[in-house]
Amino acid sequence: MKEIKEENNSNNISSSNNEMKKRSMKWTAVLFYIYLHVFGVVGLYFLFIKVKWMTVFYFIFLVTSSSIGLTAGAHRLYAHQTFVATSQLRLFIMLAHTIAGVGSIYNWVFWHRMHHKYYGTEKDPYNHKRGFFYSHVVSNLLSAPSDLKKYARDIDMRDVDMDGYIWTQQKFYWILFIVLGFLLPIHVAVVYLDESYTNSFLIIGAARLLLTTNISWLVNSALLVWGLKEGDKFPVDDNSVFFLSKSYWLNYHYMLPWDWKNDEFGAYETGFITFTIKIWRELGLINQLRTATCNDVREALYKVASSEMTMDEALAEVKRNAEETAYKEKLIYRH
Ligand SMILES: [Zn+2]
Repeated sequence: MKEIKEENNSNNISSSNNEMKKRSMKWTAVLFYIYLHVFGVVGLYFLFIKVKWMTVFYFIFLVTSSSIGLTAGAHRLYAHQTFVATSQLRLFIMLAHTIAGVGSIYNWVFWHRMHHKYYGTEKDPYNHKRGFFYSHVVSNLLSAPSDLKKYARDIDMRDVDMDGYIWTQQKFYWILFIVLGFLLPIHVAVVYLDESYTNSFLIIGAARLLLTTNISWLVNSALLVWGLKEGDKFPVDDNSVFFLSKSYWLNYHYMLPWDWKNDEFGAYETGFITFTIKIWRELGLINQLRTATCNDVREALYKVASSEMTMDEALAEVKRNAEETAYKEKLIYRH
């Protein structure tokens, strides 16, 4: 009897503390990704030894476009609203994201917002505290938690809901992906680049999707590759110093995710995707880019240290100021 009671107690404790236990492995997804990685690795090998140069350029073009759709699009524009984009650019982002083959932008944004909201806790779908393999691979193969609705109410998706392109992609995702993201790219290599169907399937099909899938997964697990490690000079749980200098940019991203200069896989403000966003700004395709200066952050820290203000309140104030500055810049630009 005592044993049963203890077992019940431990079950209660583990179920309340460990939401992720309510997730189960999606074995069809496991099989799909095993096949994708096997065919994809063969495709990458072929890419280096057997194909025409034009196929290599075409491959690079597709992977680069997909990466832009994922990082500048789904991550910086939609998940964090770091800038405002024109309708034409949003259409390009939706199409580029579709050919990446990583699910709809709506779902990507929802899980990424969950990740930020519950960062580093058991409710974080990509919890980095469980190690790189869990964060990068396993978390993407698990079903949604059984009590998803309970805490999904806290994730505000109204901004994304109102976007027509997002709605269209979500509604027709599989048709769009199979036609635009799979059949068409393979067919183009065969018809216009004179590539064989086998090479095209392995390289433009499998190897390309292998890369884009891992790029998408890496956005949520990058902290474990490039971020601060537990026990580093500035521990991951006490990141109040480094973000003055915007070093350790990944940890900075988790403090100020709305800063458009946060590059997913490079140094702050100098990565390829940030460069792409700068070009969009010059072309007038985006406006209201939100960022914080080192001085803003320094002032926020000073307020926390010298008044009753909490860190969250201080960062919210930095965000409000950034929004105001971004809006004023847009007005100046227009007149
Ligand atoms: Zn993010």
